[in-house]
Amino acid sequence: MPRHIGVNSIECGIPDIDRTHPDLAAMVGRGNYWAIGANQCLAAQRNGDGRVRVYLSFRTPEDWLTTCGIPYAEPARARAALTDLYAGWAPQFTALIQACDDTVVPRPVTMLPVGLTWPGTPGVTLLGDAAHLMPPVGLGANMAMLDATELALALAAAPDDMTAALSSYETAMFERGAAAAQESAGIMEIMISPAGAQGVLEFFQQ
Ligand SMILES: Cc1cc2nc3c(=O)[nH]c(=O)nc-3n(C[C@H](O)[C@H](O)[C@H](O)COP(=O)(O)OP(=O)(O)OC[C@H]3O[C@@H](n4cnc5c(N)ncnc54)[C@H](O)[C@@H]3O)c2cc1C
Repeated sequence: MPRHIGVNSIECGIPDIDRTHPDLAAMVGRGNYWAIGANQCLAAQRNGDGRVRVYLSFRTPEDWLTTCGIPYAEPARARAALTDLYAGWAPQFTALIQACDDTVVPRPVTMLPVGLTWPGTPGVTLLGDAAHLMPPVGLGANMAMLDATELALALAAAPDDMTAALSSYETAMFERGAAAAQESAGIMEIMISPAGAQGVLEFFQQ
């Protein structure tokens, strides 16, 4: 079963940011934008449709999303409450929260045990998050797409022996998935830690 890793996120978003908030669009740039504090961070991620997803993440207990009192169904009040959680942060960061639309989605962060495997089962396998759910630091969807590609290649290479194809796919996927999950868990530990940005700086200096 997936377990909670002591981190909770709330997803918001800014639609059509280039048109609606060109100043923030320039700040976020074309990829990911991170602002990191002690035990919390703010991330903005540009998507292909011009939307920027804004993730507000906190090192908090498993039940925090239900006990914190943020009114998810009342977006204006939710944005105000979230802005309060970033009191003292530079205004360009909280401007990202205030520019968000009415999407407010609580997301507890969970992961499967690193190195999860299972006995081969004829005609059945798993891929993507079902096989190796990991903290969201940028690897999960990429691993899922690679799983699908490698499974397809294995099936195409052994059209008369599905058991061999699944075994070949699973052997490689178990190793690759475990490495990605381990790396993701480690990065998440650093990204949302008491040391805040200092820990991230040390990570990149190593
Ligand atoms: C907040 C957040 C941010 C992320 N950011 C990134 C990122 O930047 N880069 C990255 O690489 N990864 C990221 N990820 C991880 C990425 O989203 C997942 O790893 C990826 O979506 C896994 O793909 P999947 O197909 O295995 O599962 P999913 O995308 O979860 O797809 C499973 C599908 O199955 C459907 N389903 C479930 N049960 C049933 C059922 N009984 N019958 C029919 N359908 C069913 C679901 O509705 C869903 O559509 C992020 C994850 C989160 C939560």
